[in-house]
Amino acid sequence: MRYLILSDLHANLQALDAVLADAATVGYDEILVLGDLVGYGGDPAPVIERTLALSSSWMIRGNHDKVCAGIESPVMFNDVARVAAEWTHEHLSSEHLAMLAQLPEGPMQVSPEVEICHGAPFDEDFYLFEESDAARAMASSDARICLFGHTHVPTLFAKADDPFGNQIGATDEYRLPATGPALINVGSVGQPRDRDPRAAYGVLDLDRQTILLKRVTYDIAGAQASIMAAGLPAWLALRLERGQ
Ligand code: ZN
Repeated sequence: MRYLILSDLHANLQALDAVLADAATVGYDEILVLGDLVGYGGDPAPVIERTLALSSSWMIRGNHDKVCAGIESPVMFNDVARVAAEWTHEHLSSEHLAMLAQLPEGPMQVSPEVEICHGAPFDEDFYLFEESDAARAMASSDARICLFGHTHVPTLFAKADDPFGNQIGATDEYRLPATGPALINVGSVGQPRDRDPRAAYGVLDLDRQTILLKRVTYDIAGAQASIMAAGLPAWLALRLERGQ
């Protein structure tokens, strides 16, 4: 079984299309969507349509999906995120808003071995950056492989003394640790924040026991033009070329 992992798409149609085209050459059996389909980017409706067309049975919500859908207040958002969420809410159809509102909360068990969450297994909105927090996340995970997103930074955490956990920011294929839980963030499709502007995605291969962390160049100028045409804050366009 090979799972294509998509997280933090953020209404970036150009990045999503580039990732799907690249992933088709790699190959996969099922798709896992880890939330934040919308927010920040200028093409929320096409990104929702593309994502629905993937017919993924494994899809959870992110914090931006909740706020853009109108089911959570933007009180925790900074000004730029709030402005983008309000714009997104105003420019989506009632059907698309309902779709976002119906996305389930993580964590979601995909198989006995794999679970997905947006932030952390114990809190869907938690930013999992630190090793001390990773230990807490491992203690609360029911699966050997826990896939997460939300930070937009490719990250691998495993139990202390396992070399798997020392490859943060890597962009290649790694052998999964024999024992879990391992926490894996493949990075963000639509708004990478590790200073590498290329779109990020991953493929978890349970037959070969590997995780592939891939980066793909895409039409950043096109995504930026969409953001500016929408009248969204210019920083949202600039940060895409900086990978920030
Ligand atoms: Zn996000």
